[in-house]
Amino acid sequence: MASEFLIKAQGLQKSFGKHQVLKGVDLAATSQQVVTIIGASGSGKSTLLRCLNLLEIPDSGSLLFDGEEIDFQPGKKNPLMSKWVASVRRQMSMVFQNFNLWSQMTVLENVSLAPIKVLGLTKKQAHERAGRYLDKVGILDKAQDYPARLSGGQQQRCAIARALAMEPKLLLFDEPTSALDPELVGEVLRIIKLLVEEERSMILVTHEIGFAREVSSQVIFLHQGLVEETGTAQQVFNHTVSPRCQKFLASVL
Ligand code: ADP
Ligand code: MG
Repeated sequence: MASEFLIKAQGLQKSFGKHQVLKGVDLAATSQQVVTIIGASGSGKSTLLRCLNLLEIPDSGSLLFDGEEIDFQPGKKNPLMSKWVASVRRQMSMVFQNFNLWSQMTVLENVSLAPIKVLGLTKKQAHERAGRYLDKVGILDKAQDYPARLSGGQQQRCAIARALAMEPKLLLFDEPTSALDPELVGEVLRIIKLLVEEERSMILVTHEIGFAREVSSQVIFLHQGLVEETGTAQQVFNHTVSPRCQKFLASVL
């Protein structure tokens, strides 16, 4: 039977050396949901996102995505892993805090590269597609510029266009506005809001609590590699149970 979930992670654990960063994290989302992850710096939010799209391979736990499930076992290499990694990378696109654009490529080339290399589009097809998404995020006029010529907000919008150009089933955002000057935050949140209105599935790490309250189907508060509190935005923000979550919210609101 097909799962009702687009993504479902169970018991994800990840250590770096002796430091266990994820201690058994569960997360599940159906299609079109927006899951927001909040938590203090160092709580494991980025590591969790990186484990979901297999930039890091979890030590143990399981991950179901788009109807396929994989188990991670310590010290055991799954023979299907490389196939799985490739398929996950095609279907999940990540937007990073520091944009991670290729500085030696134009905006258009940044957005076209993965559709050419990974999806096998021709250059012409990829450029057409890139143009559509650059237009969507409002920087089509910057297509021939190099990223350094753009403001931080424009660079992040370029990174969002690059993620969209893969036409992924799931978008991951890791603190997409944290590196921006305050006056540039709004233009990036406006684009993310547009994507929410299009009912795209996404997992969003952010400290923008007001925005999270507005868009989230589900909020997860991570504390030291464990889910400390989870529920609807209303539950987590207005009826906070965990004192640690209360303290965290007080510090960012
Ligand atoms: P957050 O995104 O919530 O700030 P991270 O997931 O980035 O937290 O980091 C959680 C902890 O894991 C931190 O203590 C960080 O130093 C550590 N960590 C993250 N990535 C690595 C890595 N590649 N190697 C070693 N330690 C790491
Ligand atoms: Mg982080």
